[in-house]
Amino acid sequence: MNKLLIVGTVAFDAIETPFGKTDKILGGAATYIGLSASFFNLQSAIVSVVGDDFPQEHLDLLTSKNIDISGIEIVKGGKTFFWSGLYHNDLNSRDTLVTELNVLADFQPKVPQNFKDSDVVMLGNLHPLVQSSVLDQLEKKPKLVVLDTMNFWMDCALPELLDVIKRVDVITINDEEARQLSGEYSLVKAAAKIQDMGPKYVVIKKGEHGALIFHNREVFFAPALPLEDVFDPTGAGDTFAGGFSGFIAQSENISFNNMKNAVIYGSNLASFCVEKFGTERMETLSKAEVAIRLQQFKSLTQFDIEI
Ligand code: AMP
Repeated sequence: MNKLLIVGTVAFDAIETPFGKTDKILGGAATYIGLSASFFNLQSAIVSVVGDDFPQEHLDLLTSKNIDISGIEIVKGGKTFFWSGLYHNDLNSRDTLVTELNVLADFQPKVPQNFKDSDVVMLGNLHPLVQSSVLDQLEKKPKLVVLDTMNFWMDCALPELLDVIKRVDVITINDEEARQLSGEYSLVKAAAKIQDMGPKYVVIKKGEHGALIFHNREVFFAPALPLEDVFDPTGAGDTFAGGFSGFIAQSENISFNNMKNAVIYGSNLASFCVEKFGTERMETLSKAEVAIRLQQFKSLTQFDIEI
């Protein structure tokens, strides 16, 4: 079975949307990536850190999804990373209210020995030095390295971020962050500039407006499925990344054509994530539901024009 190595935050989130508010619930980039990638036939492991305030039941949930958690360090007396966000009425934009790094501030990641030869590495949102350190520990060059990041790291660790961006094959980033990173308003120009920074493939996520993948001068677009109820977009980007990297790891095919399928898988899984607060929907989602919605995706985008 192919191996997917995931690095990212495992966190507490407090979320407020126009539909409600939660106190500290399970969150974190690696959590969403791991839950999403668990829908594929592969071996996965998370490298992260939490404090001893982190409930065992959350770790048990990850284990129950066949995710190897031996790379999640538990710091005695430490506090888990905490993030709080407030969504605006359109649910496409949000304000970060609080980012408390806590145990993440001094985190030295340790890749489990049996994942040092992973086929695909998904560098989820986390300090770019931690992302680099994970790459430094690998003993075999992965078939694909995917990186996700956010404006927070562009604001506080840009040189380190640019260093790790140079080392990856694919970057997934949202539209506003692509503009910030490149200094270009046009997403076509932004993607070209980001490709010059290193990654041959640039995925730009546009929330309810879908996702684009750029490679050289080619571009492919996947819409987001129009949903009746969107409750909480938290984690949608990470769920997308988990679907993208999980599908590639399972299929072992890193051609651009297969990456288009990976974008569809990522969008499909992300469409579930937003239907409930936090990780709730992803925890109970079944493979059958995923397959049915994939068919809806196909119908949404298929047309028959003769050219
Ligand atoms: P997304 O909605 O996909 O952008 O991801 C939301 C998740 O990212 C939340 O569960 C947060 O815990 C996590 N998160 C928020 N800020 C950061 C940050 N600066 N670094 C790493 N993870 C973060």
